[in-house]
Amino acid sequence: MHTEDYIELEKRYATNTYNPLEVVIARGEGVWVWDVEGKRYLDCLSGYSALNQGHRHPRIVQALIEQAQRVTLTSRAFYNNQFPLLVKELCELTGYPRVIVMNSGAEAVEAALKAARLWGYRVKGVPDEQAEILVCDHNFHGRTITVISLSTTPLYKHGFGPLTPGFRAVPFGDAAALEAAITPHTVGFLVEPIQGEGGVIVPPTGYLHAVREICDRHNVLLIADEIQTGLGRTGKLFACEWEGVRPDLLVMGKALSGGMMPVSATLGRQEIMELFGPGMHGSTFGGNPLGAAVAREALRVIIEERLPERACELGAYAMRELRAMRSPYVAEVRGKGLLIGIALKEEVGSARRFCKLLKERGLLMLETHHTVIRFAPPLIIPEDVLTWAVGEIRAVLEG
Ligand SMILES: *Cc1c(COP(=O)(O)O)cnc(C)c1O
Repeated sequence: MHTEDYIELEKRYATNTYNPLEVVIARGEGVWVWDVEGKRYLDCLSGYSALNQGHRHPRIVQALIEQAQRVTLTSRAFYNNQFPLLVKELCELTGYPRVIVMNSGAEAVEAALKAARLWGYRVKGVPDEQAEILVCDHNFHGRTITVISLSTTPLYKHGFGPLTPGFRAVPFGDAAALEAAITPHTVGFLVEPIQGEGGVIVPPTGYLHAVREICDRHNVLLIADEIQTGLGRTGKLFACEWEGVRPDLLVMGKALSGGMMPVSATLGRQEIMELFGPGMHGSTFGGNPLGAAVAREALRVIIEERLPERACELGAYAMRELRAMRSPYVAEVRGKGLLIGIALKEEVGSARRFCKLLKERGLLMLETHHTVIRFAPPLIIPEDVLTWAVGEIRAVLEG
């Protein structure tokens, strides 16, 4: 079978919810993937940052195989000998006392929303059913009905109502607007430190710090969605660290399993997490020993291979090189660490044609929001490969 055959099958049978680049991947290793025709490409998207450790990191593959040969699922009806170690290691790594482990990112966001509401009623004293959570314009937190209820993107939510009430959006990057929107019923503020799907939007310096102060002043929980920005991507273990900010609830996913399984987590302060009791939250696959063993190794790889430090150094280099490009198409290059957005001028239109040109040259990238090309390779990328990639991007965009 060839590229066109696979694409035709997918187009015929899969529900049409994506618009992929026309490449059919058959194998991956490190920063590289190979298509079914045997052509090699640099993965510059990293599964939306789920592959910070690269494809099939040998240590994580080893952990997966070994655990698959012992036990894969117990459900939380019984204890298993991996989940307790994962939660200990996650809490020690982040400094939070408690964690909920789920599967997809959206589920971890939902767990954080439940935690915030529970805290609102039981601790803050908000009247029953009145809790409100503030979110940001152009946010992306996932695709479940409650999570699309927080979205401000019509395509994500229209046609799927009735939606979950209790959310209101404020402009991203505007601390004064957040403060003005808070009412006595506000229990939490959910924010991405950098908006990834929104087009790699970096808020003004000092924003998160100001947000932290405002939340403290008004007794509102700060909930950081670090599913895309966390685990090294921006040059710190978590992007909030850039401003010395500690959220009350921290949500992570994606690279938590090095791209091998869906594993996500919500960490929080004792005062919030202690409100949960048996039966109030759960998931059949959440905390399964296979995912736990994989996540434990994925975390060790991030720390021992110093991936945040790599992202910091290599990201600074890539940003410098890309900002130096003289292109008739590019409006702005922005981001932090190895989460970089190349924003085209509005009049240029869709960035897809540049993604196709880059694909011909062996780089896989995809546009977000039509006009932004995201450059987010695995954090293990060797320096010479990065230099080559940046040169290719410049060659295509300098036209
Ligand atoms: C990808 C992403 C999610 C959703 O994660 P899923 O695993 O796709 O449910 C939530 N928030 C952010 C910031 C993301 O990038």
